[in-house]
Amino acid sequence: MIRSFAYGMLSSNICIVSDGGEALIADAGGYNEVMLRYIEKNNLKVKYIVLTHGHYDHICEVEKYLSLFPEATLMYHPREHAVLTDPEANLSPWLGREHRSYDLPHKCINEGDIIRVGSLELKVLHTPGHTPGGICLLCEGEKFLISGDTIFDNGYGRTDFKYGNETELHRSLERLYPLCREYDLYAGHDTGF
Ligand SMILES: [Zn+2]
Ligand SMILES: [Zn+2]
Repeated sequence: MIRSFAYGMLSSNICIVSDGGEALIADAGGYNEVMLRYIEKNNLKVKYIVLTHGHYDHICEVEKYLSLFPEATLMYHPREHAVLTDPEANLSPWLGREHRSYDLPHKCINEGDIIRVGSLELKVLHTPGHTPGGICLLCEGEKFLISGDTIFDNGYGRTDFKYGNETELHRSLERLYPLCREYDLYAGHDTGF
């Protein structure tokens, strides 16, 4: 199953996907007791923390998550490393008023990879444009799509930040539009950003 929680000034969504006592957390832009209680109450073992992309509003609590769930593996697309390690690109001076570079031990995930959570399979779709290593997670079993800031209910991601690319975004959107008709959308923000 999937449950989403919204945090911070931009209401970034964090999704918890769980099955058979295992959990994956998508994005790390905030945390609070409600979310931690949810994990505790359902007795979930957090196996993965996956970043849809490296903007500050989706990653600012990643170190806290890694210390709360030391057995979890951090995962993101290789092209996103440039964003995570560059304060100008990860927007930390703008959104967090701090210059941050996130160079953390992680496992790379690429187009077509399957991440298993209990008996659920999440397929990695590389959807660049908003950022170069942006990804979506597609769950065919439960028919949902975690889309980060690539596509929202009422729009799509900006390309005017550093490393944004309009041509790539259009290609990604062409791929995602048909899926949005078939799958429940869990975007990075409810209102678009
Ligand atoms: Zn973003
Ligand atoms: Zn965002």
